[in-house]
Amino acid sequence: MEDVGKEMKRTMESHNLKQQYQAILKSVYADKDVKEFLKINQNKLDKNAVEKSASKLYEFVNEKKKLLNGHGNFAKGYQPTLILNDHLIDVSYQPTKDHLNLERQKKLAKNFKTVGMTAGIKNVNLDDYDQTADRAVALEASIDFIQAYETNPKSFHKALYLYGPFGVGKTYLLAAVAHRLSDDGFQTLLLHFPSFAVDIKNAINNNQVADKLNNVKKVPVLIIDDIGADAMSTWIRDDILGVILEYRMQHELPTFFSSNFSMEQLEQEHLSTTSRGDIEPLKAKRLMERIKFLARPIQVSGRNRRNN
Ligand code: ADP
Ligand code: MG
Repeated sequence: MEDVGKEMKRTMESHNLKQQYQAILKSVYADKDVKEFLKINQNKLDKNAVEKSASKLYEFVNEKKKLLNGHGNFAKGYQPTLILNDHLIDVSYQPTKDHLNLERQKKLAKNFKTVGMTAGIKNVNLDDYDQTADRAVALEASIDFIQAYETNPKSFHKALYLYGPFGVGKTYLLAAVAHRLSDDGFQTLLLHFPSFAVDIKNAINNNQVADKLNNVKKVPVLIIDDIGADAMSTWIRDDILGVILEYRMQHELPTFFSSNFSMEQLEQEHLSTTSRGDIEPLKAKRLMERIKFLARPIQVSGRNRRNN
């Protein structure tokens, strides 16, 4: 009696399993991605592919469901796709859009550094740069630079010295350049020069001047924003700015500038006179020679966009 009972139980279980299995397969075949895959590949598949690959199809549908429900799936950040494998069906895992975006954000965060800029500046993008005639020259020159530099990052490329009145979009354009370069894997530092000057003065107290200076000297692409906005001390001008420019010139490292002043104005009105009022035209001339070696001047005009 007992044996018969066991036997019956087993039969019932296996029947149940079969039913369950059938139900699962039914839901698998009803899946729209499965249906589409089978339709597209019908001529390339083994005639028993669906039966032979049932477990793969099941894995695909199941992992997809987990991903949809937000549960940890097979490998985080990856989504299943169906592929052909020797006339049968297999599952491969591809990075999700979210995962790719996250990776991109990480790369951007790693390559795009700023000092003294608002946080939003890192989102400024050449792709949605609104182009008007007054800035066409600067925009074109920026794009030319990016192309030339990315094609051949080891050789020297003269960068840009953007100058023009307050609010016309100089910083914005340079931020867009930094965004693109960083996104393409080139380390870029966007430095608001007056803020950096304060920063490095404070760094004297905790012995961090050399470190901070080295980072700026050596970064592959440097953007010095708003040079000339504040009067400089002799120390900032000669031992900081002068040293940075000298190093970058010697090593032919791309260096951008933005300023409210033309090169002539910067030399005569800002670099010659220190915050203490000393007038040193020769020192100013030497600094300007370095700036001219590193960048070519481009005037940016247009309306002040800050008072929209
Ligand atoms: P500048 O550095 O020349 O003083 P900014 O780059 O700070 O000027 O630009 C001034 C304002 O105009 C900023 O708020 C900036 O976000 C906006 N802006 C500048 N250029 C653009 C642009 N191409 N598209 C959209 N907004 C812009
Ligand atoms: Mg600016």
